[in-house]
Amino acid sequence: MRSTASELNWSGTLTYTAERIVRPGTVAEAAEIVAGAPRVHGLGTRHSFNDVADGPGVLLDLTGIPTDLVIDADDRTATLGAGTRYGVVAPDIDRAGFALHNMGSLPHISVGGAVATGTHGSGTTLGSLSAAVRSFEMLGPDGSLRTLDRTDPAFPGTVLHLGLFGIVTRVTLDLEPTYRMRQDSYGPFPWSTFTDHVADIHGAGYSVCSYTVFGDEISEVLVKTRLPAGADDADAPDELFGAPRLPGSPGDGHHTARDGSVGPWWDRLPHFPIESVPSHGSEVQSEHFVPIRHAAAALDALRGLADRIQPHLHVCELRTMAADPFWLSPTQGEDVLCIAFTWKKHPEAVAALLPDLEARLAPFDGRPHWGKMSSLDGDAIAALYPRVADVRALIARADPDRTFASAFGERVLRA
Ligand SMILES: Cc1cc2nc3c(=O)[nH]c(=O)nc-3n(C[C@H](O)[C@H](O)[C@H](O)COP(=O)(O)OP(=O)(O)OC[C@H]3O[C@@H](n4cnc5c(N)ncnc54)[C@H](O)[C@@H]3O)c2cc1C
Repeated sequence: MRSTASELNWSGTLTYTAERIVRPGTVAEAAEIVAGAPRVHGLGTRHSFNDVADGPGVLLDLTGIPTDLVIDADDRTATLGAGTRYGVVAPDIDRAGFALHNMGSLPHISVGGAVATGTHGSGTTLGSLSAAVRSFEMLGPDGSLRTLDRTDPAFPGTVLHLGLFGIVTRVTLDLEPTYRMRQDSYGPFPWSTFTDHVADIHGAGYSVCSYTVFGDEISEVLVKTRLPAGADDADAPDELFGAPRLPGSPGDGHHTARDGSVGPWWDRLPHFPIESVPSHGSEVQSEHFVPIRHAAAALDALRGLADRIQPHLHVCELRTMAADPFWLSPTQGEDVLCIAFTWKKHPEAVAALLPDLEARLAPFDGRPHWGKMSSLDGDAIAALYPRVADVRALIARADPDRTFASAFGERVLRA
């Protein structure tokens, strides 16, 4: 077991304020720490840009607990240690003849941390990574293990938990038969062509991502097409809504191949290969989810801030995601457009801009990503989540002495 004093998050923009960070090597060690410490909070691979993963006492880093991947072919599930990075197990799942329904842009994040914040890829008919969770094991405040599955009435209020309910040790994910994929780039798209057809353009493939800097155009639309297992070739249309197919780029160690070549799902769903270190240290992010029916109006509203956005922006990525029933999910109740800003590493300037940016999205009930920068406080958040009072009641019942409390939870959820 390794124990350290304060450390930084992935982007280097946040110093954890916890008393110490402990990395147990077994679930039994983790349970002992939970049972003995007055304040504990779960920590994944530290990719969140805000203090959602910070806590006042012990930060329990789950990445030291072995993956111990168990694939149940009959049940179509994979069970693994919560601190496991997606990219580490995805090839093994593929070799066993199975696949995940989606992945985030980064395969380096932990399963437990991704699920806790509703991390997502893109796909109009695809739920977030939390939606793939069939069950999970969690240490409660006394250090005892409890399993929650989809049949439990508390599941929709707990699966996306922000670390506030306990320490998740193992997660069981839905699998489907393996498949292959290709990625093709199209562009540029005049702004109005894109905004007139957002839903159709994002419905043009299994998973579609679009990129803009809020000028006159959407520079690129990346279409990820799903192909049957065993496929090593396939056709793609030469144009999309009048925009030509671009040559794209082969996989180069920094990005997964965008040149139409066919590869395994785990090497096409993420934007970055597991062996890469994407833009390490040079970015911060914010992201908002708006109902897809408001997509055009929300994008136009943001474009009105282009002069203030552009000096700090690397790029804005647009994705879509299907509704789910989870109480704290940014996509709870309605299909959404995800508007994700990758900013230059100008955290103070971005923080100063966010209140105005978020005011522009307020008429569309823009919900912020739980793991990224936002200026919204507890009252503003509560107004966006109809079940937030039920979440607070669930937390009070599961953890009455608030062993798993965090400043983020108190500030943003009043929990
Ligand atoms: C370069 C980059 C790209 C990204 N791309 C995407 C993307 O494509 N889509 C997207 O939606 N987001 C994206 N994100 C955001 C990221 O996926 C989320 O912030 C995610 O929660 C990070 O997971 P993590 O393992 O680093 O968790 P951490 O940041 O360490 O923790 C996140 C939350 O999970 C809790 N937690 C973690 N593990 C446990 C556990 N075992 N038990 C209990 N609580 C736990 C923490 O307390 C905290 O509340 C990106 C971030 C970066 C840096």
